[in-house]
Amino acid sequence: MISEQKVECMQCHKTKELLKALAATVGPTGLLASDALVSRATSVWNPKPMAALALIRPKSTAEVSAVLRLCHQASQNVVIVGGGTGPVAGAEPSSESIAISLERMNRIEDIDPVNASCVVQAGTCLQNVQEAVAAYQLLFPLDLGARGSCTIGGNIATNAGGINVLRYGSMRGLVLGLEAVLPDGTVISSMGRLLKNNAGFDLKQLFIGTEGTLGVVTRAVLRLFPKQSARQTAMIAFSSFEQVADFLQLAKLKLGATLSAFEAMWQSYIEEQLRFYQRRSPFMDRHAFYVLIETEGADEELNKLALNETLELALGKGIIADAVVAKSDQERQRLWDLREDLEPFVRNKPFFGYDVGVPIGDMPAYVGIVEANLRHRWPNSVCHTMGHIADGNLHFFIQPGDVDAFKVDCDEDVYGPLKQFGGTISAEHGIGFEKRSWLLRNRSAEEVALMRSLKKALDPKGILNRGCVFE
Ligand code: ZN
Repeated sequence: MISEQKVECMQCHKTKELLKALAATVGPTGLLASDALVSRATSVWNPKPMAALALIRPKSTAEVSAVLRLCHQASQNVVIVGGGTGPVAGAEPSSESIAISLERMNRIEDIDPVNASCVVQAGTCLQNVQEAVAAYQLLFPLDLGARGSCTIGGNIATNAGGINVLRYGSMRGLVLGLEAVLPDGTVISSMGRLLKNNAGFDLKQLFIGTEGTLGVVTRAVLRLFPKQSARQTAMIAFSSFEQVADFLQLAKLKLGATLSAFEAMWQSYIEEQLRFYQRRSPFMDRHAFYVLIETEGADEELNKLALNETLELALGKGIIADAVVAKSDQERQRLWDLREDLEPFVRNKPFFGYDVGVPIGDMPAYVGIVEANLRHRWPNSVCHTMGHIADGNLHFFIQPGDVDAFKVDCDEDVYGPLKQFGGTISAEHGIGFEKRSWLLRNRSAEEVALMRSLKKALDPKGILNRGCVFE
């Protein structure tokens, strides 16, 4: 028998040894080999099978720590994957990386009504947290379209915002305590429940919004609020953006802290929804802008009265053109469907999505420039615009109407004009791999240098999500 000894390269040997050690750490069900990943999509936006040397599924913080220590020793690139709903390719492993999923760390460990907080593991789905705390008359206010599949760890890594930031702030303010594992395996546990803690640096902020580049979030203490039983939802129509901005001011003044959502939609956004689903418009006439607002309060009658008075006042002042108030949960859902259903905008490829931030007063001028840029580049293009405008956040869903269109060109048209308005290339989704080349054009050289210094200090070997945020 002739046996041909294959000379194994050093790197292959090291990888094999690492995979063996990882399998021993997390056990047979904790490691999915690369060939077992064929049925797993890379992300919601990238249907290609996940490419990775292996997908590691630790069951505990201790296992995450042991896994990272091994990867650190081997200088092995690691990508943490969550619910896969992030649209900037920020958590997409390559065939040379080890993927880690916290899908087996998905427990809600504790709900504490007295301290208005809960302790959750990072792999827990957002909707599960919302539903679990609701049973205690409590509210976890982070909410977004992907609530049914995104995870708390992903929400933290991207400092998720969504539809209630106006009232409750983004993830940065909703995390009271946090546990994270550094790339070398060190566990940093700051699982306090206190609203105020100025004992030194607020270290948890290092891991919120840094897109899995500085550490792996394993558990968190989340801030909860009383669940308000009275909710009012209305869709309001406007003939100009100036009216929308005036109404936002009036609504903040008259509705105070009960105002929880203010979602603005441009005419083409609503009309594409109505056309695609053959739905009837809530209004008799066409209007230039629409806003979905929601208030949440303790008293049904007072809540209703405040909204009706605000709408009447605005009508009397000529700020709004028309309004409909939802009279049932079904009507409320129909109004929210008009805002949240993205299928009409994303089904035709190519489509390009954006989450820019611009001061409200500058939105009409900025959107006008973007639309003109797009028309000039692609005469058949359509730009559907909506925004959590009270947060200065706009979303564009752009269909170039040209199968050969490239996103880099679209980026130029959308991001290019931001600087003159002091805008940001990302209000919500982060930088990921998609916006890296724009980071230096949007933030100063000094700011980016400081970000790099932090990365180097926490991850000297650069093993965590290599290439994400920075080239
Ligand atoms: Zn959004």
